[in-house]
Amino acid sequence: MEEEMLQFHEMGIDDRLLKAIADLGWAQPTLIQEKAIPLALEGKDILARARTGSGKTAAYAVPVIQHILASKQSVREQDVRAVILVPTKELGQQVHAMLDQLTRYCARDVRVVDISGKADISAQRPILMEKPDVVVGTPSRVLIHLTAQNLALQSLEVLVVDEADLLFSFGFEADVKNLLCHLPKIYQSFLMSATLSTEVQSLKEMILHNPVILKLEGSQLPASCQLQQYSIQCEEEDKFLLVYTLLKLRLVRGKTLLFVDSIERCYRLKLFLEQVGVPACVLNSELPIHSRCHIISQFNQGFYDYIIASDEHTLSAPKTPLPAGGSKTEKGGKKQPKIKGTKDKEYGVSRGVDFQNVSNVINFDFPKSVDSYIHRVGRTARANNQGTALSFISATEMPTHDDVKKSLVQENGECMLNPYEFKMEQIEGFRYRCRDAMRSVTKQGVKEARLREIKQELLNSEKLKTYFEDNPRDLQLLRHDKDLYPAVVKPHMKNIPDYLVPEVLRGKIDPLSEKRRRRSRVLGLAKPTFKKSNRANNPLKSFRSSGQGGKAHKPKPKGKAKPST
Ligand code: AMP
Repeated sequence: MEEEMLQFHEMGIDDRLLKAIADLGWAQPTLIQEKAIPLALEGKDILARARTGSGKTAAYAVPVIQHILASKQSVREQDVRAVILVPTKELGQQVHAMLDQLTRYCARDVRVVDISGKADISAQRPILMEKPDVVVGTPSRVLIHLTAQNLALQSLEVLVVDEADLLFSFGFEADVKNLLCHLPKIYQSFLMSATLSTEVQSLKEMILHNPVILKLEGSQLPASCQLQQYSIQCEEEDKFLLVYTLLKLRLVRGKTLLFVDSIERCYRLKLFLEQVGVPACVLNSELPIHSRCHIISQFNQGFYDYIIASDEHTLSAPKTPLPAGGSKTEKGGKKQPKIKGTKDKEYGVSRGVDFQNVSNVINFDFPKSVDSYIHRVGRTARANNQGTALSFISATEMPTHDDVKKSLVQENGECMLNPYEFKMEQIEGFRYRCRDAMRSVTKQGVKEARLREIKQELLNSEKLKTYFEDNPRDLQLLRHDKDLYPAVVKPHMKNIPDYLVPEVLRGKIDPLSEKRRRRSRVLGLAKPTFKKSNRANNPLKSFRSSGQGGKAHKPKPKGKAKPST
C-alpha cells in the first residue's frame, strides 16, 4: 500500500510560515521537503543529496525559519543564529529571495541579510552590526567579515552549506575550513549537495554530527517522460547552421538557455544571432553582479527568449584543460582576448540558479565534465515542468559525450541521452546565409562588442542599484538583449524566404520575422508562452529523420516522439 504523503500543515510549522507557503502556491511538499523538514525540526543534522530543482532550498529554509521563531520565544538577545553558505552571488540572491518570501508574515522576527551580492564590504558592516537573524553569503565574504570582526557567530545555532560540491569546485575549500574555526562547538548543520563527492564526504566529517543521510534521487536528472535529452554530432560551421535553423524556424520554442564554454564564444554567438535578427542576452562572469541578477530576473519574468551563458568554471579549472584543438576559434592554440581583472570568481549560472520556465537547454559547446552536463541540463524540466536538452558535439568533444552517455544509462539499460537524428542536408540552403553571417563576426568585432557591453553594463549596474531599489516596477525599462552592432546587419538576413524552408517544414513553422514578433510583443499582441509544450505540435520533436537511406523525414503525427534508429 502506498504511504500517505506528509503535508506542510502536519509538520508542526508555525502558522505564519504556512501562510507564506500557501501564498507561494505550493500545494504539497516536494520529496526532499517531506523527508528533510520533519527530521530537521527534530534537531537532526542532515546530509541531503538532491538534484537541482527538487525544492531543496525550502527543505532547509523552512526549518531554519521555524528554529529562529522558536528560539525567539525563549531568548531575548538579538544575534546571528543562522548562516547559509552559497557558492555564488546569484545563488545567494536566490536563497535570499526565497527566505524573504517565506518570512513574509514574520519579517520582524526573522531578519535576513544577503552579503554575497553587494560589492562594498564597508557598506555591509553596519548591516551586520545589527545582528540579523540569518546571514546568507559566499564563504569568502563571510570569512572577510568574521576576520574584520563585523560579524560574530558565537550564538550560531544553524549552519547550512548549500551546493556543497560546488563550493569545492569553486575553490572555497580553505575559506570554509577557516570559517569553521569561528563557530561555536554545538550547532545544527545541513549539507546540501547535488553529488556526494569525496570532498563533500570530508566536509561531512567536519561539520555534521551523526547526520541523517538523504539520498532521495536515483538519477540526478528527471526521467525521460519529463526531460528529453538529445545530442547531435556537428562541427563548428554546422553548429551555427543548426542553431540558425532551430531558432529562425522556431523549431525550438519557449525560453531557451544556450551554453557556450567561454566569454569569447558568448559574444561570437550573440553577434552571429544579431546578424540574422535573433535577439539574445549574454550572461558571463565579466558582467557586474547587478546586471547578471537583473538579466536572470527579467528572463524569469518572460522578457527574453534566449540567454547565451558561458560556463567558464569548468573551462578554467586546472584539472580539466581544453582538449587540444578545441573549437575553431581557439585553433592553433591562440589565446582568447584578455580583458584584465574583470572576471568574477563567484559567478555561476549553470548551477544552482533558478532560471524559471526554461523549455530548452542547448549545449552549443558540450560541457567539459559529466557534473557540468547535469548542472546545465538541470536548468530545464524543473519542479514538474517539461523540458528538452539538445547538445551539439564536435569530434573533440566526443570523449566527454561518451562519459555523459555512460552516466545516463538507467537500470533497465536504456540511455537517457539519445541521438537527435537531423538531416543536415535538408538545411543546406541556409549554409550560404550562415557563412555570410559568420564572416561578419570578426575577432575584432567580438572584442569590441565585449568591451562595449561591459562598459554599458557597468553604467547600467550603478544606475540599476540605486534606481531599481526605489522603482522596482521600472525594471523592464532596461533590456539586456539589444544589438551590439559591431558589424553592419544586412536587413535581408533577418527574414527567411519560403523557398529556403525545408519542404518537410513548410506550413508547420511560423516564419514570423523577429522584428514582427518583437513588435507584436511590444504591442501586447503576442505574449511569451510558458505553456507546457505540446509535443505533437512541437516541430523540434518532429523534425527528425526516421527512415533509412537518407530519405526525407515525415513529421511524426502525435504522441511520444522516439529517437529513430
Ligand atoms: P530549488 O530546488 O530550491 O532551487 O527549487 C526549485 C523550484 O521549485 C523553485 O522555483 C521553487 O520555488 C519551487 N518549489 C519549491 N518547493 C516547492 C513545492 N513544494 N511545490 C512547488 N514548487 C516548489
